[in-house]
Amino acid sequence: MKRAEAATLPRIRVAEPADVAWMADAACKGLDRGGSIFFPQHPGEFADAKAICARCPVQQECLDYALARPEVDGVWGGYGSGERATMLRRARRNPGRATRSASRTPAQGTSG
Ligand code: SF4
Repeated sequence: MKRAEAATLPRIRVAEPADVAWMADAACKGLDRGGSIFFPQHPGEFADAKAICARCPVQQECLDYALARPEVDGVWGGYGSGERATMLRRARRNPGRATRSASRTPAQGTSG
């Protein structure tokens, strides 16, 4: 690759180990190897994932991680991608309010 081409590529931030240390305590750790629970085909099938998230000790860390990477699909922090997109839109409209206060509690979520 030529130097000029490299200069025009977007920078990709790689997560540091400290950014994902909370994953060691995740309630979903080792549960969903096939991805069918946290990455279902239909948004209405998020209930099982959300039930696991509701008892997860790192739910807030997980949600913060996913909100910082809005392209991430599936259920993170008890919310589907559509719900997280709504949180981010509300936070942009009301920048003085905390993102997490812009939505209901994760266990009450019903769709992605
Ligand atoms: S909040 Fe849900 S998706 Fe996130 S680590 Fe916990 S169980 Fe996994």
